[in-house]
Order: sequence, then structure tokens, then C-alpha cells
Amino acid sequence: MTFLKLLFRNRLAAMGAVVLGLILLLVLAIPVLPLQDPDVTNTGNRFVPPFSEGHLLGTDHLGRDLLSRLLYGTRLSLGVGIFAALIAATIGSAVGIIAGYFGGRTDNIIMRGIDMLMAFPYILLALAIVAALGPGLLNALIAVAAVNIPFFARNIRGITVGLAGREFIDAARLAGMGHTRIILTELLPNVLSTIVIAMSTTVGWMILETAGLSFLGLGSQPPQADLGSMLGEARSALITDPHTSIVPGVMIFLIVMSINLLGDGVRDALDPRLRSGALSRPRAQTIVDRKSPVPADDGNGLLNIQNLETQFHVGKRIYRAVNDVSLFVNPGECLGVIGESGSGKSVTALSVMGLVASPPGVVTGGAVRYEGEDLLSANFESLRQKRGDKVAYIFQDPLSTLHPLYRVGDQLMEAIQVHHKVSDKDARAKAVELLKSVRIPNAESRIRNYPHEMSGGMRQRVGIAMALANDPDVIIADEPTTALDVTVQAQILALLDDLRRERGLAIIFITHDFGVVAQLCDRVAVLYGGKIVEEGTTTDILDHPAHPYTKRLMACVPELGGGKRELAAIPGLPPIVSDLPPGCAFAPRCEKATEACKEGAIPLEGSETRAVRCIHPEEEIA
Ligand code: ADP
Ligand code: MG
Repeated sequence: MTFLKLLFRNRLAAMGAVVLGLILLLVLAIPVLPLQDPDVTNTGNRFVPPFSEGHLLGTDHLGRDLLSRLLYGTRLSLGVGIFAALIAATIGSAVGIIAGYFGGRTDNIIMRGIDMLMAFPYILLALAIVAALGPGLLNALIAVAAVNIPFFARNIRGITVGLAGREFIDAARLAGMGHTRIILTELLPNVLSTIVIAMSTTVGWMILETAGLSFLGLGSQPPQADLGSMLGEARSALITDPHTSIVPGVMIFLIVMSINLLGDGVRDALDPRLRSGALSRPRAQTIVDRKSPVPADDGNGLLNIQNLETQFHVGKRIYRAVNDVSLFVNPGECLGVIGESGSGKSVTALSVMGLVASPPGVVTGGAVRYEGEDLLSANFESLRQKRGDKVAYIFQDPLSTLHPLYRVGDQLMEAIQVHHKVSDKDARAKAVELLKSVRIPNAESRIRNYPHEMSGGMRQRVGIAMALANDPDVIIADEPTTALDVTVQAQILALLDDLRRERGLAIIFITHDFGVVAQLCDRVAVLYGGKIVEEGTTTDILDHPAHPYTKRLMACVPELGGGKRELAAIPGLPPIVSDLPPGCAFAPRCEKATEACKEGAIPLEGSETRAVRCIHPEEEIA
């Protein structure tokens, strides 16, 4: 269902489908259409022009009805092309799967054979096959199928090799399945979409190739009509009676065009990477569409987020991921942003540098000021210069941040050279120095490592080194230690702490862990449902949480040496941001909630340094 929807959203593919559908319909209707016999000659009626009485498309050099020959010929050409594609796909894929699955010598022998087939230009190979077998449509079909086998074999083998080493195949082996069963039930379903894609994009070619052989007189034999032989026979009358060539020519064009357009559409709709929205690739900068006036600069902090509002517009639904969030951070300061998963932490962080994927993301209000300049109204070039140079990010998953195919040293050098004119030698020296500063041992040799050669903790440190590469003023760290074990986490927190003291770095540290906040942060903002529900200094919040949510969140953290204490999970689920309640978003999960909590918007009350958004706070804030 979604496949068809995706397919038809692609207009060209839809057009291809319609044209191909019409042609198929005509061809299938041949038995009921009032057509003349395509092979009956009538030499007295040669070269009748199109739109004549009794001959809608005219007649050919033997006086045969062109419309009738066209439809019969199309049926034959389509049939042969599609059948050849099926044969090539079946044999090629089987060969490819076997080679890829068994590997080793089997793979070597099969693939060298395939290589030999591929060493010949394929039209030449097809000609040789037909020459050896003798002319005829069936032999042309065999030839076209044979020359296309290597294409499928190579394609499918490549994918199978990747799959054969995966854990689910090992698991199937351990479960005692035989080779045949593994191939049929584990491998085949995984490569099926690739086979379909390869077929849909090559069927057009195969029709052309069959037509080519017939054109040369090696395919269908007279009087049988197919599109290629019709063209071949019309060649001598090309100048005097062009309609005899144009009729089959246009049909070949229509068929191949429509199949290719449809094939491309099928590929785009089936390919999981393209399906996830690559057809609408996000822009380099989040769309900003502010409905309210830009808030005036209040002069807070080095990086100052004011009343930020970021939404995702998906179809008719609006996901309000960030609602009226104001945060600022001073040089040398660490601001913690804490909240459950889905509370809008990452989206807030990404909005700062316009990194929210857009579409569907839209910044609908507020301002983000860096040294007073509003980044949301900045043009792309000025934003690009600041990204990584002034404001850098550390992301949660170092494996997806680092490019798998480049050495970490080269990636570090690139991060530097994007922003500064530095020679390779100096950049390399800087890269080594950066790795040392994040305490990676043997930095000189480590820069030649690929990401997969490093442990998770080391990769995370490379991510941090990359963020530090250009001596940024602000680092936004989005759960940078979640993937790490506690000892590495402690080292990385100590490292970040040193850096801000030594270099005066401002850090926005996103986490869901109060333990981490206690170690590193000066101030904390608690996020819930895309809104700040409480903010204050770390000591204030840890010692006197005012919002029931903060209190519950802290009760979820076990304390070493804190004696036996019941860990209380928060009941219920975080709110769905496409459907936020009018009042306090936490009210449905809160023990203290009253009717008033659910009625209207509740303001964030207090001072700039300590505020809470609650009508029944746990403690009155000072
Ligand atoms: P977290 O606090 O865990 O970092 P996020 O900031 O990633 O949470 O997400 C905030 C909210 O935005 C979530 O409720 C999520 O469902 C929503 N969201 C994020 N990305 C998209 C998207 N591409 N489309 C729709 N909603 C999204
Ligand atoms: Mg997140």
C-alpha cells in the first residue's frame, strides 16, 4: 500500500505506469479487437499512408496492415524481452547467491566464469551466440538472457557477501538449518527487492536488445512481426514512406521510456534508503518561518536561545517538539539540559545551528543569538562559517558521526581545513595534538586508524577532538556519554571540565542523567514536552527540586552508598508532542495535579536564575 503510494507520488513513474498500462491493455485486447491478419500480403495496396480507409496506420511494403502488425509485434517484443529478463534474473541471481553464500573457491570459480562472459562487449556476445545457434526468436531470447546474466550475478553476489557474514545467518546455521533452507528463507527475502529493482531497470534494455537482434535479421523471421524486424524491413523505405519506420519506432520509444521511468520509480520506492525521504532531501539549513516578532536581544550569555519554537510539519500533523524554550550560557560555564527521551533536547540543540532536518522541521518562533547576532536570520554562508568553528557539536553515537571509510586523522584534518587555510602538515600535527588532548594513547599511530578499529570510548573521544578542532567558543554535547561505560564516562566528563576551565569554553550538556549533571554542570534546565519546567543552579535543583517532575526524575537515579531506597519509575508515558494538553503536560502523570493544572498554560515563574512552571511546586522557590 505505502509502496504504491510512494510510487505514484513520483509523477514521472506514474506517467510511465499509465503509458505502459495502456500498451499492455491494447496488447492483451488483441483477440477481441477487429484486427486484420498481420501476415496477409496485398501487394496492390503497398505503402498506404496512415489514416486511410481500413488501415488506420497505413500499410507496409507488402501491403500488410501496420496497426495489426504493430500490436502483434509489440506483444511479441514485450513477451520476449520480459521473458528474457526473467530468465536472466533467475539464473543470474541464483548464481550470485550461491557464489556469495559459499564464498571461497566456489565464489572464485563462478565469478571468474562470469568475468569471462563480461570480457566481451555484450552485443558482440549476443551476435556470437545467435550465430552459433542459428537465427530465430527463441535463440535471440537465449542470447539476450545469457548476456544479461553477469549483470544480475555480480549485483546479487555483492549483496549476498555482505549478508552472509551477518549474525542472523550464523544464527540460522547454529539452529541447524541446511544450506538450501538458509538460502531460500534467510538470504532470498533479503535480496528479493534488489532483484526486482535490477529487473525493473533492465527490462527496457532487454527489449531494445531483442529488437536490435531482430533488426539485424537474427531474431524473428519473416513473416512474423516484432518491433525490431518491422524496423528492419522498413529501412529501405525510410525516405519515401517514413510512416513504416515511425510507427514501430515510436512504439519502441514509448515502451522503453515508460518501463525505465516506472523502473526508476520502483527502485526509489523499494530502496529503504531512498524511501525514508531521500527524494525530499533535507536542506542544509532548517527552514525558519517565524509567526511572532523576533524577541529583542536581552544581552544574556554568549549563546542565547530566546523563546525558541521548533515544530515538525508532517502532512497535516504538527509535532510541537520545542515550545518557547529560553536558555543561555556564558563563557566557561556549563549548562545542563535534562529530560526524558523525547522531551525535545536534541531538537533544541540542533535548532541552534539550523541543523534540524527540514522538511519536516520548521523553526516557528524565537531567536538564537550568538554574540548578539540572530543565527536564525543569518544567511547560510555565515551559518556555515560558524558551524564547527564557533559552535561545535558532540553527538551521542560516535559511529554515525564518523565516516566509516576515512581514517580518523583525515577526518580531523578535514574539520580543521574546512574553516582555516592550514597546510596538510600543520593540520596533521594539530590532529595528533587534539587526539593527545582527549587522552588517546599513541596518537601518532592512531590517526591512521579507521573508526571501526577503535573502541566506542575512543571513537567518542575522536568525536570530542573533532568538536575541539577549531577551538570553538561553545560546545553543544548531545548525550555524549550515553554509549560509554562509567569509567570512560568519568574520564570524558573530567576532560570537558578541564577544557572549560582552561579555554573558557561554554558547554551546553544534554543528558538524561542527574549524576552527570551533578558532576559537571553549573546550572540546569529541566525539559518536559518541549517546555522548560524548571531551571536553576545545580545545587538548588539537586537539593530543592521544585517541580514534581524534577523530583520524580531524581528519584529514578540510584545512589551509590545511599542505602536501600526504592527506585520509583514515573508512571505513564511522556506526552505525544503532536497532541499536547492545554495545561501542564506532566499533569496526567502527576500525583499533585488538580483541575487547574489541566486548564490553561502555566507560566514559568521566578527569576532569571531560578524558575519553575508549576502551580503546586514541591517547595516554594526562593
Ligand atoms: P530528546 O529529548 O530525546 O533528544 P528529541 O529532541 O529528539 O528528543 O525529540 C523531541 C520530539 O520531537 C519527540 O517527541 C519526537 O517525536 C519529535 N520529533 C523528532 N524528530 C521528528 C521528525 N522528524 N518528525 C516528527 N517528529 C519528530
Ligand atoms: Mg536526543
